Formats: sequence, structure tokens, C-alpha cells
Amino acid sequence: MDAKKGDRKRVVILGGGHAGFHAARRMLKRRKASDDLDIVIASSETSEVYHGVMPQVIGGRVQARNLLVPLRNYLPGVTFYHYEAERVDLEKRKVYLDPVGERPKVELSYDYLVVSLGSVTDLSRFPGLKEHGLQTKTIGDAYYLHDHLLEMLERAAVEENPDERRRLLTFVVAGAGYAGIEIGAEANNLVRSALRFYPSIRPEELHVTIIGSTPRILTSMPEKLAAKGAAHLTKRGVTFRLNTTVTSATSNEAVLSTGEHLQTRTIIVTAGIAPHPVVRNLAVDKDAIGRIKTDQFCRVPGLEGVYAAGDNAAIPNLHTGDTCPPTFLYATSQGDHVGENIMAEVHGKPLRPYSYRNLIEVAQLGNTFGLTQFGPLSFAGLVPSILVRIVFFFKVPSWRCRLGLISDWTSAALLPPDLTRMPIARTDMIMPLRFVAGQEIIRQGEPGSRFYMISRGRVEVVRRSGSDEKVLATLGPGQYFGEVALLESSGRNATVRAVEDTTVLSIARKDFTALVESLPILGQAFSQARGAPAQEI
Ligand SMILES: Cc1cc2nc3c(=O)[nH]c(=O)nc-3n(C[C@H](O)[C@H](O)[C@H](O)COP(=O)(O)OP(=O)(O)OC[C@H]3O[C@@H](n4cnc5c(N)ncnc54)[C@H](O)[C@@H]3O)c2cc1C
Repeated sequence: MDAKKGDRKRVVILGGGHAGFHAARRMLKRRKASDDLDIVIASSETSEVYHGVMPQVIGGRVQARNLLVPLRNYLPGVTFYHYEAERVDLEKRKVYLDPVGERPKVELSYDYLVVSLGSVTDLSRFPGLKEHGLQTKTIGDAYYLHDHLLEMLERAAVEENPDERRRLLTFVVAGAGYAGIEIGAEANNLVRSALRFYPSIRPEELHVTIIGSTPRILTSMPEKLAAKGAAHLTKRGVTFRLNTTVTSATSNEAVLSTGEHLQTRTIIVTAGIAPHPVVRNLAVDKDAIGRIKTDQFCRVPGLEGVYAAGDNAAIPNLHTGDTCPPTFLYATSQGDHVGENIMAEVHGKPLRPYSYRNLIEVAQLGNTFGLTQFGPLSFAGLVPSILVRIVFFFKVPSWRCRLGLISDWTSAALLPPDLTRMPIARTDMIMPLRFVAGQEIIRQGEPGSRFYMISRGRVEVVRRSGSDEKVLATLGPGQYFGEVALLESSGRNATVRAVEDTTVLSIARKDFTALVESLPILGQAFSQARGAPAQEI
């Protein structure tokens, strides 16, 4: 599907995070009706997420919705696809999108392309970390982590086995950059301030350890300022293991590069940042950490109309001679700049080189301590922590978020820690679905998204050809259908409809393929059943 309208030009932005959001917003501001230009964003999230405030969600000081800026609210006039970019064909100038829900795939051609997909976490090099590490990338991760920290206190409060009690009260954070230090500070703050409600746990039983591969924490801040941050956290009971990495993990320990085994039930992972898979597969020049190299106009050299911005871009920093670091303020200003330059191209005007000079670096280490670097000046303590809040307050474009943040920050400063838990579980892996006679469960021609097992009722498998319809099979309780399109990533070649009131158990594609990959006997059983008409869908 490619719904390009006539001669209208189209900008496709991949990723609706800081860079993508700002690029779209700037283009909306500059676009004239006579430009005949459609702006499209494809993003796996429906909001711009303020990651810098996420540690405070983990610490229970800020409500998650106050750091989410819904794209549809703030980008009216932009066509939004809640899809995942699967790949880009630079020769055909097309992007291929995979639906986040159960809908057909989409392909879109572009005149201008902005690649702003951020980065991903790749823990495959560290055995056990993918399974037992608690990730910190999405708002769901933050919610889950907050609940997990409180759950550890709940369990420890009544645990009598001293070894298990120590494991429950030991919290390990892998990574000593912004995310690791801010999350470590918030986690430490939460568990220590909550102790007044857990009288059976003594403060000296709590251990929060931050592991960093570098010789010091917060390497993007000046050494002296970072040292003040480290001293503050040490005073609050945090310990550091520097020049060290977590090399592997199990459900009850983190193994360090020093050979130490830390007994723990909590390994928070902020390290392992890797290039986005779509970016990894793009045949363009990349820097040593897999970011797309651009010229000073944020364009990808040799490709007409293709730009990159944010964490997935290596954009020259004209002031330092190096490339820009992957941080929030660079991502937003690069997004703005790409928006300006694309509109300059559309209007036949000269492009401007990217020359943003970052004068401010901020970090928030708990409720009352912040670090701020402003040009040559650096500050640590309460005033910088207010300054950090002011920066976010003005950066977040939504008044709903701003008012919410003020209310959250005020109550966190005045009231005891909030121990409310929000146990939001993911949708059941196996979902029961009911269909009445005549309703279609699977439609011929659609992509495969689920596998089905019949628990009650009867269905028929029908193949349509023009106006002809042929019933291939009738299936009942204990029988299944829909696996072939999932295993072969193909479309459905028949329709399945209920012939009476029918209940099926259904498994989503990702869960089904994970099951088949881990249980080869399942895959073999499916191959053996191939050939029967019902087993071809
Ligand atoms: C916990 C945490 C704390 C941080 N704290 C700080 C801080 O204090 N200061 C600071 O300067 N920086 C901080 N950062 C880094 C900062 O958030 C990033 O530099 C910034 O988000 C980069 O912006 P971006 O637009 O490149 O990527 P992102 O904001 O990550 O946006 C990427 C977008 O792409 C979308 N996407 C991903 N895959 C696909 C796909 N296949 N198809 C379609 N869309 C896709 C995502 O949904 C997202 O919308 C922190 C990061 C984290 C995770």
C-alpha cells in the first residue's frame, strides 16, 4: 500500500522521539499550503517520551503520563502511522512498515526521509542479562521497575532466610552514564525513604551498587562536577564499582568482570546501548558505534533528501571538531535543524550548517540534589536540582504535562514516599476469543498475526477464487490453524470462519515464534502436519 497523492511530495520521519517530533513540528511551522507537502511519521510509540524524567517515575516521584507528549495532540496535520519501520530501500526510496497491532503491512515512498529511530539495548553479549536484567528503555519498563523495587521490600520484610533476604535487599545498576546514575539515585532514594513503612528492615541491610565500565561516573560532565555527584550518592549509601562490567547474570546473581558474584534479585540495565536494527541494515557510512554519518547539514552523503538526527546520527559538532553526543538537547536541536533544512530544500533556499552549541548539561540525583554545567560554570546541590526541573518544564511542550509535573514535584517534596503500586501486567499470552456462526476468524490475503486452537465449536476453512468459494476442511475442538503464515511470514491463503458458536485460544505471532524456537518438537509436529488443507493457512 502506498497512498501517495498525485504530485504531492512526501517527507517520511522514522521514529517519533525527540528528534522525529521536533523535525515534524518545525516542518509544520514552516509549511505553506502551496508546498503540496505531506508529512508522515511512523513510530512504534504514540508519544514523545521524556526519558530524562523516567528515573523519577522509577523513584515514584512523577506520574508516567506527565512525561508523555502524544504525537497526535501536538502534531496536527501530520499523518501518523503507529507502525514499526522494518526496513528502508534506499534505491527505490521506500520504507516498509510492520503494524504494531494486527493490521496489514504498509510501504511508503518518500521524497525526503528522516531517520530518527534512537538506539536499542542489545544484551546478547552478556549471558543471562536479557532474561534477568531489568531494562529502562520504555515507560512500561519504568513502571515495572518501580513496582519491582517495592516488591523486593515486601518480600524482604517477611523473609527469614538471611541469604535470600540479602539478595532481595541488594540492588545492582549496570551503567554509570546519565541513565544509570539517575536511576541508581532514584532507586536508592525510594527504597531508603520507604523503610519507615517496613520496620522489619534495617537501613544497613540495603545495598545499592552502580557498576560502570569507565574510570568515573557521568563521563559527559566535567570530572569535578561528576565527583560531587559521586560523593553525594556515596553519602546516601550507594557504592560504586568502576572499571567494571556485569558480564553475566542468573535469577539470583550478577557476575562482574572482576570475577565477583553479587547475590541479587535486581539487576537494572542501562548499559548495552546498540544501533537500531533498521539503521544497522542501512548501507550507508557509520561511525565506530554504528551511528549514521552525516554532513554538516545533517544529510546522509550521496543520498538525495535523506537526513538523520538524534541518537542514531553522527553529526559533526562544528565547535569541537568531534561528532555530537547522543543526548536529549542534541536530539531536539538536530530535529529542529533537519526540519528547517528540509523546508529550505522544498522552498529552494540554501541549507544551513548545524551549529548548535550545547551550553547546559543537567542531571538529577534524587529529590533535592542536582548537577548543572552551564558553560564554564558548574553547580551541585538543591538549586541545580530546581534548575533541572525548570529545563524539563520549559522543554516539555504540553501544559497538561507541565502542570502535572509541578503537582508531582510538589507532593514529592512535601509528602511521605508514595508506595502505591500499579501492577499492570501485559495482555495474557494466550487469549480466548469467541466467534458466532458466520464470523470470519482469518481472512484470505491478510498477513498472519496469530495462531489459533479450537476449544469449543466448529470452523470451516474456505478458499475463495473470484466469486467461487470452496470449503477445504471443517475443524473442531482440539484442532488448530494459522501456523503456516506465521512460520513462513506469508499471507493467509484461505479464510477460516465459525460455523457455530466457537471459542478459540489464540497466541500472538511473537509469542508463537518464541515457543516454536524454544521447543523444536513443536516445529517438527507442524512440519509433519503440512499437506492437510487445514494446515496450509
Ligand atoms: C532512562 C534514560 C534516561 C536518560 N537521561 C538523559 C538525561 O538526563 N540527559 C540527556 O541529555 N539524555 C538522557 N537520555 C538520553 C536521551 O533520552 C536520548 O539522547 C534521546 O531520547 C534521543 O532522542 P532520539 O529522538 O534520537 O531517540 P528516542 O527519543 O529514543 O526516539 C526514538 C523513537 O523511535 C521509535 N522507534 C524505535 N524503533 C522504531 C521502529 N522500528 N519503527 C518506528 N519507530 C521506532 C521509538 O518509539 C521512539 O519514538 C536518557 C535516556 C534514557 C533511556
